[in-house]
Amino acid sequence: MVIPGDDATLKQALEDVNTPNLLLVLATITGDDHWLSEEYAPAPIEAPEGSLFPDDSGGYPDEQRARIRDAAALIIGEVRDGKRSTGNKPDLARFHRMLRFSTAEDIELETAEMLMEETRFKDRDTQWLPELQSAVRDGSAADCHIVIVGAGMSGLGTAAKLKQAGISFTILEKNDAVGGTWYENRYPDCGVDTPNHFYSYSFHRNPAWSGYFSKRDELYAYFEQCADEFGVRDHIQLNCNVTEMRFDESDMSWQVFFKDGSGNPRTLRANAVVSAVGQLNRPAVPDIPGLETFQGRMWHSARWQNEDLSGKRVGVIGTGCSCVQLLPKTAAEAGHTFVFQRTPHWVAPARDYYKPVESGLIWALKHIPYYAEFHRARMILVFGDRSWPAVVTDPDWQDQSVSVNEANHAMREVLTEFIKEGLGSKQSYVPHCVPNFPVWGKRLIVDNGWYETLARDDVSLISDGIDHITETGIVTKDGQHHALDILILATGFQSNQLLSPMSVKGLGGQDLAAFWGDAANAFKGTTVPGFPNLYCLYGPNTNIVHGGSIIYQIECQIHYVMQCLTVIAGGSKRALDVRTEVNEAYNDEVQALSAKLAWGHPSVESWYKNQAGQVVNNSPFSLQKFWAVTHDLDLSDYRLLGPGAND
Ligand code: NAP
Repeated sequence: MVIPGDDATLKQALEDVNTPNLLLVLATITGDDHWLSEEYAPAPIEAPEGSLFPDDSGGYPDEQRARIRDAAALIIGEVRDGKRSTGNKPDLARFHRMLRFSTAEDIELETAEMLMEETRFKDRDTQWLPELQSAVRDGSAADCHIVIVGAGMSGLGTAAKLKQAGISFTILEKNDAVGGTWYENRYPDCGVDTPNHFYSYSFHRNPAWSGYFSKRDELYAYFEQCADEFGVRDHIQLNCNVTEMRFDESDMSWQVFFKDGSGNPRTLRANAVVSAVGQLNRPAVPDIPGLETFQGRMWHSARWQNEDLSGKRVGVIGTGCSCVQLLPKTAAEAGHTFVFQRTPHWVAPARDYYKPVESGLIWALKHIPYYAEFHRARMILVFGDRSWPAVVTDPDWQDQSVSVNEANHAMREVLTEFIKEGLGSKQSYVPHCVPNFPVWGKRLIVDNGWYETLARDDVSLISDGIDHITETGIVTKDGQHHALDILILATGFQSNQLLSPMSVKGLGGQDLAAFWGDAANAFKGTTVPGFPNLYCLYGPNTNIVHGGSIIYQIECQIHYVMQCLTVIAGGSKRALDVRTEVNEAYNDEVQALSAKLAWGHPSVESWYKNQAGQVVNNSPFSLQKFWAVTHDLDLSDYRLLGPGAND
């Protein structure tokens, strides 16, 4: 790493960095544990009220902080000037010690192991890469071809790894661009709810995020850039809609049927298929009587139309995350906005949601050795599993009707106060805005001015329930007609029928949609018995509610899939079929755990659940646990089909 600039630039950058992290940098460069001694012990991390960002500055007196920075300027300056080496990256034991020191928390060793990989202090790819590369080198993988369906974050991430291994692959993407959800969603203020230094590939960090919570255009640009920098552009076929996949037992391969950009039917043969289609890409159009008769302009939030809203009477149906994000800008532009709410959601205060990344931090992420690694680790610790204890039901908790444990209830009270405060003069809305389900029953929505917007004079919250839609507006259950020029459907996605509408036929022609019904399930959220060599990324029970980045979950899955590919890429027409009893035992545990979590609470009705109330979409595990669950392939979980079959 070449460190540019002069002393002044370095000192300026150090103004913006986190002091406990800076101490870890100094300890790593110098190898001197004095920087991790009691003298520099930071204060515990605390969450100031109303802030998404905990105060993790270390709480040092100004004078001590200045001394640490001066020492850092000197030491890093010496590295820059070639007078000192960058030292050695920490091993697990030292990294574990560093994390415990810098957070003043009792971090578990397994968490440090996970973070060694997330920071790439340890390269987890060594678990599968040498084997695949050697199969490529000796020619045994020459006939192996993988088809990835979807060029969003899951598809691109998988492609990066296949490219690295030298395995042949094709990505079929239905859209005319990569990026998946970040390509499709363009509604006003569309953005992420996890800081980007965490919400990005561990193997492709971006030091230049402009905000902690980036907006859609920047995220889309990141994935476009990934497609180029991973070198996978030539493998992507855009405008290709996969309609059917059939497993062919004669040579243990999949036939993938799709329509190309001209609508012509085409077929590809693949040793394995990676479904990277996401859970949230098919807009749900509500089944409300009269919807089709509406004569004004109407669109779904995920199919945004850039129309002039000024002076218009705009209706929005739905109050989930998409609506919360799009409302402030929509209401600011429209003449009057009517929000039709069926169920209120919990919204978390986020004073610093629009905080730009400090220029010094960007510089440090680019140029200070190890800073980016320690920054990512800290972001994951702060924005990952911190809320987990508050989502697990305490069987002894007395008020189980609206909360699951004491911490969960305390959060309910904080958020209820936040609602009252935000609604200002419209206190009559308060009873309509307090959800009757536990906090984290649904993913907490990060506030971007939701209650303040509802409190505007030109915004009306309508909670009476929709009876029907007319040519000119919406009639609510109280008989009132609300005249509208424009109707926005922020009504979410068809999420329970995973992989739909593709027809997927496995062993013996078994149909995946019929096998699943409305209770999709998979081993580790990834493999399905009877559908060998089919891998579902962001599959059943992998979505996260309590916090964290879905890219993290997907990387865990990709790591697991790459290990599976070491078995089947060797050109011997082999297939891995997860054992039925293994899948059933896994999913029994998934359901038993889910029932004890906030989102499994009986009061929660959401897109996570099927008709029977089973949680289909969400992971029942903390991020840490999902990492452990997916980390190592155990071949005894699978039947090996083809040459060398073991069953
Ligand atoms: P959603 O959470 O499913 O919300 C849909 C809304 O539409 C709900 O308020 C729902 O009411 C309402 N609705 C649906 N059908 C209705 C009907 N027939 N009549 C009246 N109301 C109806 O969808 P979303 O807001 O698009 O978010 C989906 C997911 O996308 C989120 O959970 C999140 O995972 C992700 N997302 C993330 C971000 C981000 O953080 N960056 C942004 C947007 C979306 P009920 O609650 O009563 O069902």
